Amino acid sequence: MAFSVIGFSLIQLVGEYLFTQRSRDDQRIADSLAESFSDYLVAFDARSMYEAAQETARAQQSRVLVLDGLCVVQVDTASELNGQRFITAEIDSVLKGSAGEYGFYDAGNGSGSYWLRSALNGFSGVNAMTGVYASPIMSGGELSGVLVYISQVQEIYESLRDIQLRILSWMAIVATAVLVINLLVLRTITRPIGELNEGISRMSKGDLSARVRVRGNNEFAGLARAFNSMSERLEQLDKSRSQFVSNASHELKTPLSTMKILIETLMYQDPPDPGMTKEFLGDVNKEIDRLNRIVSDLLTLVNIDNGMKLNAAELDIGNLVQEQVKRLSPLARENGIELDCAAKEPLEVSGDALKLQQVVYNIIDNAIKYTPRGGEVHCSVARSGRKAVIRVADTGVGIPEEDLPHIFDRFYRVDKARSRETGGTGLGLSIVKQFVLLHGGTIDAKSAPGKGSTFVIELPLAEKKS
Ligand code: ADP
Repeated sequence: MAFSVIGFSLIQLVGEYLFTQRSRDDQRIADSLAESFSDYLVAFDARSMYEAAQETARAQQSRVLVLDGLCVVQVDTASELNGQRFITAEIDSVLKGSAGEYGFYDAGNGSGSYWLRSALNGFSGVNAMTGVYASPIMSGGELSGVLVYISQVQEIYESLRDIQLRILSWMAIVATAVLVINLLVLRTITRPIGELNEGISRMSKGDLSARVRVRGNNEFAGLARAFNSMSERLEQLDKSRSQFVSNASHELKTPLSTMKILIETLMYQDPPDPGMTKEFLGDVNKEIDRLNRIVSDLLTLVNIDNGMKLNAAELDIGNLVQEQVKRLSPLARENGIELDCAAKEPLEVSGDALKLQQVVYNIIDNAIKYTPRGGEVHCSVARSGRKAVIRVADTGVGIPEEDLPHIFDRFYRVDKARSRETGGTGLGLSIVKQFVLLHGGTIDAKSAPGKGSTFVIELPLAEKKS
């Protein structure tokens, strides 16, 4: 809208400028002729006036009429209207005292008075825009006649039309370009934002499967990709959370159901058998221990998820491993397993002693649990660059290749029956991994089924204080 207003104003301004310029030129010529004719008119020197007028008319391709005080044509450079009365609006205005009057006429459509039409008809170039200027011829302060200067303004009119046409076509081009740009902007900005908006509102209503289409490679595509990876991550988290809840409930249900059966059997004993009662109560006690372990493991995991803080201090990791080996030696002996530890040099790491003890204890405990009688478990602590490397190798049952990537997952067990039998919760290794990560370390497992497994933990050594 503003654009078309500017366009039309421009056309008007250019038109006005061109016509004003032209009318000024005509006025200048006519006024100087009128001035020079003042003496001739008084002296009725039509010949001199004719010659001077003719000269100007030829040079300017215009027509000059000289009228006396009664508007009778004394000189006509086209030699047609001599002796006739001639009056137009411009002449009338001059007679009434104006210092000059200019008018534009379209000679083709017959505008203007009868006299004007006859003057224009006689003028070369009939179908043309024509300018008519009337200038007073004064002598002794009195109006003695009127000079009428008729000139063609067709070329100005045409160039104005040309300019109009150009401005209009530019306006059309610019308007089309604006339209196209608008459509493009709509496609590249508005649409992705709309889709993103829709995705966000779907997600806020709980639909975590919401994804948006990624188009192109601009900032919006980056935003769409970020949104998709965020919603994917949220969906995964949501799935693993509900998986966790269902696994946890299942784990808790198993000992509870066992206890229920045991207690019901005891309740309906008739007559009560003291031996069986004692045995069953012992089993109930074991199940309660199991429940305890599961609940405390779950609490540990919840604490880790909530951003558990480490109670860090510098400690000798070799010592720590040796202590855990000592703690577990009776169990190893009981199971007929040879357990030893090689820790050559003192290695300082900055860590939470209780958590690192739990890590090492769990790994060695697993090694003993999953190694048959007569097997061996070897532990070692050594330095490798800026790291302390703890290695626990057993000659046990090993872990099948397809299970190896999952053993650090929550509730993952390779052999479910064996793990339960040995009192495992399936949470041990996932807690171990989280603790190691909290210490800025890594944990890895290698295994050959039937031959044994090796767990390797790497922890960064404490920075030496100088
Ligand atoms: P669990 O409490 O059942 O032992 P973990 O999280 O400690 O659970 O271990 C996960 C699974 O990894 C175990 O169920 C077991 O099948 C396997 N596993 C762990 N350590 C060993 C090992 N040293 N040898 C063989 N299998 C192992």
